[in-house]
Amino acid sequence: MNNSERFDAFVNQLCDVETLVPRDVKKKKIAKAIYTRNIATIVGIKTTTGRFLPVSHEGYSNETYVDKVYELLGRDRAEFIGRKLKGIERRAHMTLFREMIESENKTEWRQFFENNFGKECMIPDNLCIACWNCSLFGGLEPGKGATFSRIRYFDTFSVEDSATCIQTDDSPEQMAIGNTVGEDLSVERSEASFHRYEYVKAGTRFPFITIIESPTLLDVAGYLMSVKLADQHGYGKYSANHGKFTTQFLAVSTGYPMFSVLDMLKWAEADDNSQLKANLKFESALNEPVTILDDEIELIQGKLNEAFQSYMKVLNPAEGT
Ligand SMILES: [Zn+2]
Repeated sequence: MNNSERFDAFVNQLCDVETLVPRDVKKKKIAKAIYTRNIATIVGIKTTTGRFLPVSHEGYSNETYVDKVYELLGRDRAEFIGRKLKGIERRAHMTLFREMIESENKTEWRQFFENNFGKECMIPDNLCIACWNCSLFGGLEPGKGATFSRIRYFDTFSVEDSATCIQTDDSPEQMAIGNTVGEDLSVERSEASFHRYEYVKAGTRFPFITIIESPTLLDVAGYLMSVKLADQHGYGKYSANHGKFTTQFLAVSTGYPMFSVLDMLKWAEADDNSQLKANLKFESALNEPVTILDDEIELIQGKLNEAFQSYMKVLNPAEGT
């Protein structure tokens, strides 16, 4: 198969965009997932481009420590939990969604959400459970209904040992120092004015696997773009300045991965992505999976606008005809 044949075969194994349209359930519009056995798996490696604070807890203490795991496959590693990946990528996906509404549809996004989904959709506490974002990431509207998430994240870990990739008190330069968020500027500065934190250094790699159930082309293309946006925004604590990444997508497949994040850690240690890529095997119970690699993945990203327009058409079949 050549590139475009493989791309067509890939799209043929995805779900139709109509599955994203909200349906009336007890007078309420809900983007109820229509579960099929189709899936899409996205595999890649994220590399930090600056300081990153993977912290799974919120706190106001004056010291922050990077999440770590000890003795995982012979190394201590920084830990980057799936819930954090999902939270940041969901917000990036919503930003993308709103921007596309305004640029494609020439409508203000709030009005568009009111018209099509019954209300504005606010992450995390006031979800509409009817929009494309809620269809993919799931949500609950208390007393009204719920839609399950179709996207699955996995915890990941640094390829590099924490002794080399985390700046700690044991390192020559020690922990970093910043101002505390809640500093009282009316009092003289003291020890309590400062915030000390560990961080993961630039150049640290985190392999990842994300699975989308009953995927449409819009879900896959939108996810790929959202990851790029999230990389620019940042994933860590104080994410406005921290936790920026560059992401290399290695494979997008219509099969389930026959490997785990742990396998990828071992392969990535060898520092040879060609070997790593050769190990990426996928299987599907439905049919022969189609796997798109490397630069070909840009073909999928290039279909985002087209896929979004077809979503707009099925949401409002009367318009634009
Ligand atoms: Zn929503």
